[in-house]
Amino acid sequence: MKILVINSGSSSLKYQLFDMDSGKVLAKGGCERIGAGGSVTHKVPGRDNYTIEIDLPSHDKALEVVFELLTDKVHGVIADVSEIDAVGHRVAHGGEKYKKSSLVDIELINYLETIIPINPLHGPPAIKGMKACLKLLPSTPQAAVFDTSFYANMKPSRYIYALPYEFYSEDKIRRYGFHGTSHRYVSQKTAEILGKPLSSLKMVTCHLGNGSSITAVDGGVAIDTSMGFTPQEGIEMGTRSGSIDPTVVPYIMKLKNLTPDQMSDILNKQSGILGVTGVSNDFRNCLAAAKEGNERAQLALDILANGIKKYIGSYMAEMNGLDVLVFTAGIGENQCEIRRMVCENMEGLGIKIDNDKNENFERGIPVEISAADSKVKVWIVPTDEEYMIALDTQKLV
Ligand code: ADP
Repeated sequence: MKILVINSGSSSLKYQLFDMDSGKVLAKGGCERIGAGGSVTHKVPGRDNYTIEIDLPSHDKALEVVFELLTDKVHGVIADVSEIDAVGHRVAHGGEKYKKSSLVDIELINYLETIIPINPLHGPPAIKGMKACLKLLPSTPQAAVFDTSFYANMKPSRYIYALPYEFYSEDKIRRYGFHGTSHRYVSQKTAEILGKPLSSLKMVTCHLGNGSSITAVDGGVAIDTSMGFTPQEGIEMGTRSGSIDPTVVPYIMKLKNLTPDQMSDILNKQSGILGVTGVSNDFRNCLAAAKEGNERAQLALDILANGIKKYIGSYMAEMNGLDVLVFTAGIGENQCEIRRMVCENMEGLGIKIDNDKNENFERGIPVEISAADSKVKVWIVPTDEEYMIALDTQKLV
């Protein structure tokens, strides 16, 4: 079975074509600058990358180009698009209705349109991607895999904000959680590696990338997570502030005479590691600056490490213990420094890493980094959201 996974952004569209029999990626790539020019980079394992500049006025056109590339005599990997058995879409937000991955139909699309007000950035491009596929591959089944659905079983006490209750009941303001597909993948993968039933394990999974979130997974069920109504809540991120005292927001808006959009831009795009360091949103640059003695870069690292620690501690309290701590995504998988800072002085909670294993690890594969006498196992487990989407899609069709 061949499954195409699509991830549509406002001006981008990423794709991966999987052969599910071998679990291998046949081709992958991305369209950029949709609506404002356009380029496509197409990658086939074992071949040189192929990049073209091409006008991409819409997601429909981008997808047409992707299909042409996938079936191209020179750059393609299939003879005809009819070889694609199903399409899986990454969808950030399933609202309160979609609690698991579901087949795409008009009812689903209509519902996603109704929740655009609470998902203004990611909703419209995901809908465009689904509509484009329905138009170009009308007889191919499609699935929507939601980042929020892993959190569908959280208790109300974990998702209701202590605001007037009507904000929840009438306006749907609650914690939804994000990155669920990644947390679900790494928690399942970790159980598989350990050879233990997922239902027997208490885990904390740390997805640390440009956007970062931490999830408590008890017996395979996400019982709490750091992200909330939007991916803004939680720990310090590349450009997002993470949680702050909410009163700071109206205070700054009044002080600086800012509109809601300007304030939102500050919280989402000018804060986090970028805002604190004034140097870069990229962890690598932040670390390099800290090593050269930049105090604000060191501060950004300390804020991040302390934020992660606090979530781990609170989730251990919520779950009454912890079996495995997992690090994943760009920073979690690649940056030994942050793993060291997070796990430092945690022996009292049964967490101890082996510094040598933490520093000299093979990238791209699951690696245990806990010390032999650590009660809690600590693992680096590379995430693979696209494969998880392909697996869900396969199950559904
Ligand atoms: P996104 O959330 O956009 O998917 P990633 O998961 O790729 O982002 O994470 C981006 C962050 O991870 C950046 O801060 C970057 O510094 C860090 N990162 C990504 N890859 C590496 C790497 N190979 N080595 C060190 N740091 C990395």
